[in-house]
Amino acid sequence: MNNEDFRRHGHTVIDWLADYYEKVESLPVQSRAAPGDLRRLLPPHPPENGEDFEGILKDMDRLILPGITHWQSPRFFAYFPANVSPPSVLGELLSAGLGVQGMLWATSPACTELESHIMDWLVEALELPRVFRSDAAGGGVIQDSASSATLCALLAARERKTSGLGNRRGCDGTLVAYASSQAHSSIEKDCRIAGIGSDNLRLIDVDERFALNPDKLEQRIRADIDAGLTPFFVCACVGTTSTLALDPVPAIAELCGRYGLWLHVDAAMAGTAALCPEHRGIHEGIESADSYTFNPHKWMLTNFDCNAFFVADRQALTNALGILPEYLKTAATDEVIDYRDWQIPLGRRFRALKLWFVLRSYGLEGLRAMVRRHIELANEFAQWIEDGDDFEMVTPRSLNLICFRYKSDDAFNERLLQEVNRSGEIYISHTRLNGRYVLRLCVGQANTQRQHLEQAWQCLQTAARDLQETGRVKD
Ligand code: PLP
Repeated sequence: MNNEDFRRHGHTVIDWLADYYEKVESLPVQSRAAPGDLRRLLPPHPPENGEDFEGILKDMDRLILPGITHWQSPRFFAYFPANVSPPSVLGELLSAGLGVQGMLWATSPACTELESHIMDWLVEALELPRVFRSDAAGGGVIQDSASSATLCALLAARERKTSGLGNRRGCDGTLVAYASSQAHSSIEKDCRIAGIGSDNLRLIDVDERFALNPDKLEQRIRADIDAGLTPFFVCACVGTTSTLALDPVPAIAELCGRYGLWLHVDAAMAGTAALCPEHRGIHEGIESADSYTFNPHKWMLTNFDCNAFFVADRQALTNALGILPEYLKTAATDEVIDYRDWQIPLGRRFRALKLWFVLRSYGLEGLRAMVRRHIELANEFAQWIEDGDDFEMVTPRSLNLICFRYKSDDAFNERLLQEVNRSGEIYISHTRLNGRYVLRLCVGQANTQRQHLEQAWQCLQTAARDLQETGRVKD
């Protein structure tokens, strides 16, 4: 493809995306594809000769769209959002076009310096502790995901506790990590990868609000010390996946200080709410955290992948992850940040660009307006549930998440979820709390407005009525 063709096709691709955003609301939210549908339509062998770009783009409509679940539909309420915005997509496009691999400051100084600067902006925007700034002892870095950020935190904590022995000799099975029973599965996966092992991750009981119980945490820490083990790491969650419960960070921080444990705070989706001063309370106690992470790729209009990870002591992180072969040494090595030492892979994309575009295009006020609208809509939806007779809230609304049930058994609620998702009108997901099947509706897509929540409410009520009356939902 020569440059002129690139220019022409580039315009067509942006047109394609703009048309997609215009029509996405009319498409069934969840893909109706069955397993194998796409593969049956794809040629079994790669093309020997290049094809026309027009033909390739046509196949986006013919082959790919039917297998897409529309995360950017304003009626997408499942899991947590992964919302995007046009400035973010354009920033991503520029990043792809520049093709920068920013492993070292020297391999593109702007890639590193924009990232440090934007991370410092986020410290200010969320009013995070000053120590997380790059001009203090710590600093921020963009990772691909919260899972990777937590793994980096675990490794830094492991090396701090073992004075570097973990890296040299591997783990001896004595290190113990803690999180609540509601912590995201990535914490256990990270413990496996870091050599801590699932058996040495203690999942601490939660209270009636599904937040970690600090008394139980302390009991467990003491029991482990008595057994000759070495507690070293706690992951506190600000906004758990199932219910957006807030672990009591101040009490956990106090225990971490007393027993010498690394405190990592995982605010994967909820962190964005701290853009609004009235929601900053979710971060109470965070000034004692050793590390903190949240995902702009969930609720901050920045397309996947973009995770923000902060540490209070960057030396602890680079002690764990830094490694410098001769071929990566540069004249600037001693005076700059080389982000390769802050993450698992060596290579890295220019992710700061899209975040920069988002922050400049919307400003903090624009982002706050979105957060406030989503929370307000979630609040209204919760009110409709409270005011009606057929559904019930399972936990009080937390920020933009509603956990609820139809007043019937698990099988009915499971069926209800399948039916509303099958309808294509909305897409919601579920969890299990105290053994019971629970429906989850999270308001977070960029264009979701009141009418989309009304539609969701209507869809749920109609499907529940049909299921009650006939045992099935009318097509
Ligand atoms: N932590 C929490 C609380 C989450 O809810 C999630 C995902 O939803 C994660 C971590 C993992 O996020 P990521 O996909 O960025 O690894």
